[in-house]
Order: sequence, then structure tokens, then C-alpha cells
Amino acid sequence: METVKYKGYTYPAWFGKNILTFIKQTTFKCKHPKAIFLCECGVQKELDMYSVRNSVIKNCGCKRSEISRIKATRYSHNIKKLNSCHRGMMSRCYNEKNVEYKNYGGRGVTVCGEWHNYQNFLNWALNNGWNEALQLDKDKIVKDNKIYSPETCCFITARENTNHRRNTVEIFNDGKRYALKELCELEDLNYNIIQKKIKAGVSFYVAKYQYLTKTKYAT
Ligand SMILES: [Zn+2]
Repeated sequence: METVKYKGYTYPAWFGKNILTFIKQTTFKCKHPKAIFLCECGVQKELDMYSVRNSVIKNCGCKRSEISRIKATRYSHNIKKLNSCHRGMMSRCYNEKNVEYKNYGGRGVTVCGEWHNYQNFLNWALNNGWNEALQLDKDKIVKDNKIYSPETCCFITARENTNHRRNTVEIFNDGKRYALKELCELEDLNYNIIQKKIKAGVSFYVAKYQYLTKTKYAT
């Protein structure tokens, strides 16, 4: 089946397309002339010509139920995704058996009372730009934040998330704070090598110097 992408979701190819063919005009000399159109599904129907021309009407009505079914599936898909996001958050904070507990609950990170209720969390997420490519973040707005709440959380991309991790090495460069990974990308340095040197105890600048002299200027 041919498909189209729209806002990150996949739809059948007919989605959003006008699938009507003009057959003949039936009413004249009026504000809203009508015409017979042939729909791709085979049905002929008399429709408002201007609405068809402006793509307000795109089919004979045959796709209406299919569109509402697609929307409903998409919505339940979102709900499932957000449900696992919510369960993950609760588990990191309150389940001592969770592998990430030591970095969350174990460090005193909690979930605000309001968000213990999944429905509240869901409403917040859907009203705050969530889509399935994004991840929940609690450290971007408030540095080293210890509570998941509507005031302290936002959604970020997976890449931003890696850069903001608590165990990420942070470097001050030209008065700005960078995640090491970010800075290495900016300066075209090998992140793994630089990170190893820093872990071994040298500063970023020394690590950078060593890296450059060894890999690029060695004879
Ligand atoms: Zn149709």
C-alpha cells in the first residue's frame, strides 16, 4: 500500500488528497454552483464546486470513517507510549529494583503528587508538545532538579538528552557550558579519546592538545 508521511505519522496515500474527478456542472447562476464528481471509490455525487476546488471536500465521504479510525488508533498509540513513559519515571524513582534507581530514587529524585496520577501526567504531556520522538527531561529547566513536576519538566530530543545526562562531563568554554560530547562535535575531536584522557585526570585543554599533536601533527 502506498503511504504518505504527515507530522511524523504514516497514512494511506489518499490521506489529505483530493480524489474527486469533475464530471459535469449541474447548477448554474447561483452563489454555490454544484457539480457531479466521480470519487476514486466509484461513487458519483453532486457536490459544491468551490468546496471541491478549495479542497474543503476531498472525497465523496467514503474516507470519513477511515480517517476517524486512523485518528483513534493514533491516539491510543500515543496513550500507550506515554503510559510507558510514566511507568518508567515512577519506577526509576520508587522501585529499588530498577537498574536506574540509584541515579534517581536513590539520589532523592521524586515525582510530584499530581503526577502520581497517570491521567494528570497524560494531560500535561499532550498539552506540552509531546510527540513520540521526544523524551521526558527534568534537568533542562532546573539544573540538577530532584522532582518530576509540570514546572520542572519538558520534552527534549534523544540527542539533547544524552548531552544533559548527569554523568556527562561538562566543560566551560568561552564562558559557555558544554556537554563534552557536544564540544567535541563542535571542534571536530574524537569524543572517546578525549573522554578517556579527561577521565585519566587531564583537563579538556590538555586532552585536546595531546589529541591534536598526536593524531594530526605527528610525524
Ligand atoms: Zn468515495
